[in-house]
Amino acid sequence: MKSVLITGANQGIGLATAKNLAHQGYYVYLACRNPDAGTLAVDILKAEGIKNASCVQLDVTDQASIDLAVKEVLKHSNSLDALINNAGILGNANPDGSVSIEEIKRVFETNVYGVIRVTRAFLPLLQESDAPRIVHISSGLGSLTNQSDPDWVFSHYKSEAYFPSKTALNAYCVALAAKLKSTRCKVNVVDPGFVKTAFNGFQGMHDPAEAAKFITYAATLPENGPTGCFLSESEGSSNGIMPW
Ligand code: NDP
Repeated sequence: MKSVLITGANQGIGLATAKNLAHQGYYVYLACRNPDAGTLAVDILKAEGIKNASCVQLDVTDQASIDLAVKEVLKHSNSLDALINNAGILGNANPDGSVSIEEIKRVFETNVYGVIRVTRAFLPLLQESDAPRIVHISSGLGSLTNQSDPDWVFSHYKSEAYFPSKTALNAYCVALAAKLKSTRCKVNVVDPGFVKTAFNGFQGMHDPAEAAKFITYAATLPENGPTGCFLSESEGSSNGIMPW
């Protein structure tokens, strides 16, 4: 049975993606920072008849918890077929839109360094797979081609933290894809669009299940599948894929 680990899988886009991949026959590790929320998420899947899922405690900002999560996965298998770096935070801005340096650091700790930590920790297991796939959940806001409308970014997110963090994430993904180019590992970024989750007060345009389809596609790409940044239609950004 193929396996996938999804960070931030207790709710929203991560949980919807977990459901999809479990239905496709993957064993799904729901990596959640709060074990109670992880257990609840596994129960939600069980209620839908899904048995091929379990939760592992993992806080992307805490290297020790990541190392323990690797050990937990190794108890089941020495390989992992897909890693979905989904956990992310928006960060908080002051009422005037300003953001403290501490808050910017907190957002980067999760959205950038967290992804790098988790990817590095699970790469040896991924490299044991015949067809490893790494998918990073970014945002149109972070796309290097979508910076032309700073007013829109500011009015929607009032954050000097989130936008640059996702831009840095995209740049990291390009570097990782280049580094792994000669291996069997495919690296992709998905911009899920504006999705109805707790992340944006359930104000989005799309259901998490729609975003999950996109992400599932990237996580299960065939050998000759495309690689790059998959852009959603919903943010008015150019559709399709920006290849690496
Ligand atoms: P949610 O807020 O519903 O889910 C975010 C998940 O990330 C939660 O499970 C949360 O856990 C987890 N998380 C946050 N910090 C950490 C951490 N330190 N360690 C482990 N897990 C953590 O949001 P979405 O499902 O919408 O977001 C998923 C991804 O999609 C994010 O990366 C976001 O940036 C991206 N995205 C979302 C968009 C949208 O419109 N919704 C648009 C573009 C991108 P906990 O429950 O414990 O807080």
